[in-house]
Amino acid sequence: MGNTSYAIALGSNRRSRYGSPAETVRAAAEALRPLAVSRIRLTPALGPAGRSFANAALILASGGEPPELLAELKALEHSFGRRGGRRWGPRVLDLDIILWSQGTWADPSLSVPHPQFRTRTFVLEPLAELVPGWRDPVSGLTVRQLLTRARAASPVDRGIPRT
Ligand code: AMP
Repeated sequence: MGNTSYAIALGSNRRSRYGSPAETVRAAAEALRPLAVSRIRLTPALGPAGRSFANAALILASGGEPPELLAELKALEHSFGRRGGRRWGPRVLDLDIILWSQGTWADPSLSVPHPQFRTRTFVLEPLAELVPGWRDPVSGLTVRQLLTRARAASPVDRGIPRT
C-alpha cells in the first residue's frame, strides 16, 4: 500500500451541506487524506450551466489500481450528494483521476490519464502547483508544458485565483 500515487482533480459548482462550492471542494479534499492539495480556484462555467466552478487538484498515495480508486471517488461523490443526470448541470462534487504514477489504464469505463485533461486549464493550473514536472505518459509532455500549450490554445480559459 501507498507506493503508487495519483493526481486527482476536484470540482464543484453547487452548494452542499459543507457550504459553497469552494468549501465543498475543501471538505472533499480533506476526506481523501492527500499528500498535497492545491489552492482552490474559481473558474467560469463550461457549458450552459451558468455557474462558476470551484476547482482544485491533489496528490494521493494509494496501492490500489485505478478501478478501485474510482469506486472510492464515486462513493465520496455520492456521500456529498452528487446526483447523476445532466452532463453540464449543477454538480455537488466531481472527482476525476487525472494521472497515475504507474502510467496508463484503459478499460470500457475508465481511462487514465483522463482523456480531456490536456486542454483543461482548470485542471492543469492546480496540478502545475503540485507536480509541474509530472510527465503525461501519452504525450510525453510535463504538466507545465501542457499548461503552457493549453493557455496558448485558449487564452480566455484561465482560472481566476481565489486569493
Ligand atoms: P462524469 O460524469 O463526466 O464525471 O463521468 C464520470 C464517468 O467517467 C465515471 O463513471 C467513469 O466511468 C468515467 N471515467 C473515465 N475515465 C475517467 C477518469 N480518468 N476519472 C474519472 N472518471 C472517468
